[in-house]
Amino acid sequence: MSRLSGEPASAVVTGAANGIGRAIAEELLGRGHLVVGLDRDQAALTTTRDDLGDRFVPVLGDVSERAAHEDACATAQQRARLQVWVNNAGIEKPTSAATLDDAVMRAIIDVNLIGTLLGCSVAVAAMREQGGSIVNMSSIHSLVGFPESFVYASTKGGIDALTRQLAIEEAHRGIRCNAVRPGAVNTPLTQSFLDAAEDPDALLREYAELHPIQRLIEPVEIARVVAFLASPDASFINGESVTVDGGATARCFAYP
Ligand code: NAD
Repeated sequence: MSRLSGEPASAVVTGAANGIGRAIAEELLGRGHLVVGLDRDQAALTTTRDDLGDRFVPVLGDVSERAAHEDACATAQQRARLQVWVNNAGIEKPTSAATLDDAVMRAIIDVNLIGTLLGCSVAVAAMREQGGSIVNMSSIHSLVGFPESFVYASTKGGIDALTRQLAIEEAHRGIRCNAVRPGAVNTPLTQSFLDAAEDPDALLREYAELHPIQRLIEPVEIARVVAFLASPDASFINGESVTVDGGATARCFAYP
């Protein structure tokens, strides 16, 4: 039973086996949803299922394939009314215009942008009868520039735009669509950048000091915002991208 609506409800979360997606799955489970977690990492899906319990239902698949979303959607609908869909899966690799590797460019677009477009498409088709709420994972890279973020930033800007677009297309059918824009979050993705750095401690300081709050964001701090946007508490929030960055994009120059 969903604690908020009082009826059985399911949620699909993509990229649910690690990092922010796993925290979102845990938060939605805590709020009474059954959660279908779509991810391409079988080992991490199994660990997540063992840790979170059998109301977390793993589905193995790649978000760049429509069939993976359809599989997750059918799995959720078999168990309870599909109420929430979170397009969270994403990858980040350094790219610049001058040195662009076409294969890397297409890989990032396939997962981040096409994966989100396909998730929205499948979710909307399933939610048209009874409504629902979609939340997409953007980033502060959609708002401000960072080094070597040419393709990643493009995909996150696209996610903000498609979120607005879907919101106005589907609102009259009771479907809301919003996004969240995190700063630097303490996840395996961020850790992979730290591991690859010449001076990981210096990079960690740089990430932390990006935020006036001066630490990394914990995944649960993003998950709570996603769960709020997905819930009836956010019933009149639609087409919005909510920035969760401890004030990083609020400041225009370094400030202690
Ligand atoms: P992560 O790498 O720690 O976890 C991502 C999960 O998505 C993994 O379980 C991975 O297996 C899965 N995944 C990746 N590609 C997939 C695919 N094609 N199909 C299915 N599953 C796939 O990443 P994270 O840091 O938790 O990031 C999650 C989302 O948040 C991403 O969209 C990312 O762009 C966004 N984000 C992250 C940060 C950050 O600082 N970590 C900041 C802003 C936005």
